[in-house]
Amino acid sequence: MLFFAPICHNLRSTIDKPLYDIVVVGAGPTGLACGLFARRAGLQHIVVDRGTLVNTIVGYPNSMTFFSTSERLSLGGVPFSSPNIRPTREEAVAYYRGVAESEQVNLLLQTEVSGLQKRGEEFYLATSRGELRGRNVILATGYFDQTNRLGVEGEELPHVHHYYKEPYQHYNQRVLVIGGRNSAVEAALDLYRNGVHVTMIHRGEAIGKSVKYWVRPDIENRISSGEIQMFWNTEVEKILSDEVILRNNLTGELFQHPADAIYAMIGYRPDEKLLQAFGIDYDKETLVPAYDPLTFETNQKNLFLAGSVACGCKTWEIFIENGREHARTVIEEITRKIAQQS
Ligand code: NAP
Repeated sequence: MLFFAPICHNLRSTIDKPLYDIVVVGAGPTGLACGLFARRAGLQHIVVDRGTLVNTIVGYPNSMTFFSTSERLSLGGVPFSSPNIRPTREEAVAYYRGVAESEQVNLLLQTEVSGLQKRGEEFYLATSRGELRGRNVILATGYFDQTNRLGVEGEELPHVHHYYKEPYQHYNQRVLVIGGRNSAVEAALDLYRNGVHVTMIHRGEAIGKSVKYWVRPDIENRISSGEIQMFWNTEVEKILSDEVILRNNLTGELFQHPADAIYAMIGYRPDEKLLQAFGIDYDKETLVPAYDPLTFETNQKNLFLAGSVACGCKTWEIFIENGREHARTVIEEITRKIAQQS
């Protein structure tokens, strides 16, 4: 018997539990695509998530629009019609719900997976609603649930946020936005357009190259006009209740700046604890897991990855449009293996 992680739940009798061909962990677009292709292949499946369906998209800024076109966000050929070049968050949430329903994907939501055991050829997943059994497991948890941390004193204060939703509570307030790429830029512009006094700081000396070409002139013009104040080569030293201590990383100079609220838009990382609990080997620095690039099977037989969890901290490498292709590949591989066994 392989034993990857201590399971804290009382393990109830599993004799009467269904044995799924596939248990998918994560109900984002990639996990949903896994469920869709599994159902079309006639495989018994369940897609489990600790949040809601496409929880990550639900958690995006309210006014967010995608960088991709609707065709690139669509799953399994189910048409995603949108009058917008770049669909909105709300359109995407509605589309994915429609996919789940029309494709009869078997979902188990608001259910946290905390551990995995393998007994013989079967996986046993410990969840907050009891145990699940599966012949194959696909980890499709993405990275959005874990934010990078500044690692400075005051980061846990209530006015410090690592996710941005909307500007209205900050009207006429002084807000500091940290970071120099897409999330920071979009938050800063949204706040600025809604009557907020915005200051940005970035540890680099220019807006990141990955910032989209249609957004870049807007932020650069707001900064050069002084409508958004910018401190380049600047990092946070310490956070206090209504101000921050900043440090110029070229000169070492420390200076104070007022801040009623702070948005640390400094990126995300996959859940390392889940990789450990699942017994998946990974690079300790980049969090890139070990897997076969042709099949997405990990170092654990019949345990697969799909979507952006496979890129570790390199979160710019995998998006919905390539994550959905992982789902297709993994389901084809599982189908092939099952056919070989029978
Ligand atoms: P990101 O691309 O990882 O950028 C993080 C930013 O935070 C970088 O500027 C980085 O600095 C800085 N940073 C990281 N750790 C830091 C630290 N400890 N102290 C200070 N600064 C730190 O993250 P993101 O902008 O949230 O984007 C994440 C993903 O979401 C990307 O794939 C992006 O394209 C996507 N996204 C999509 C949309 C959309 O579809 N509308 C909107 C926003 C984001 P360096 O530049 O020096 O590394």
